[in-house]
Amino acid sequence: MSYDPAPPAVVPPNNLATICQQIVSAGHILTDFGILDAFGHVSARHPQKPDRFLMTKRVAPGQAIVDDVHEFGFDGELADGSGVPLFGERYIHSAIYAARPDVNSVIHSHSTSIITSGLVPGHSLRPVCHMCGFLGTEVPVFEIRDVAGDATNMLIQSQALGSNLACSLGEAHVVLMRRHGCAVVGTTVPQAVYRAIYAEENSRLQTAAEAIGSPTYLTEGEAKACEELAPFAIERSWNFWLSRVS
Ligand SMILES: [Zn+2]
Repeated sequence: MSYDPAPPAVVPPNNLATICQQIVSAGHILTDFGILDAFGHVSARHPQKPDRFLMTKRVAPGQAIVDDVHEFGFDGELADGSGVPLFGERYIHSAIYAARPDVNSVIHSHSTSIITSGLVPGHSLRPVCHMCGFLGTEVPVFEIRDVAGDATNMLIQSQALGSNLACSLGEAHVVLMRRHGCAVVGTTVPQAVYRAIYAEENSRLQTAAEAIGSPTYLTEGEAKACEELAPFAIERSWNFWLSRVS
């Protein structure tokens, strides 16, 4: 297989209607994969207002429509005063956008294999195949007990907890949330969806391999080289996944 020498640019569309439709489509795609169910959410930075982000009101992402998308400030509160019911964990999104100017999309999920990968202290998600170079050498793990004690409900229901999560994410693309799920970021909605799907796939492969024995993982150089190819795969993947939910 050969590739063009210059990968396609991974930049978000500068059109509000397109971004809102991508948020809705992402929810449908990730529900189709079983990564989201009644819970979890997708957001995107506002294309014209970089200090605002867009996400749906509190609705199962597989049932969301474009009219459900609303505008939020980086305090996690509605910017349009509409008074619709909101996700309690919207602060995952607000805090990450505030901390990471390079991030234009955030996904939070509770998918099964991802939770498994973050359960054991000292163990995390590490890339085991060529589609998962975005994981780097090892994914950071957020332990809520370290910042909020041992009597929380695990949920990120304040800006302060969101900021702690964003701190654990650092410059990575994925952060595991022990006993809860993960947050995945991208420069576009399709890139974040791609990473959410392949983070879950990597979790399944890694957990299966570690049950057999001691697998080898991608080296730092391999992860970087694989990640450089990802832009070629994202557009094709996004269009295919869209066709499955249209
Ligand atoms: Zn959650």
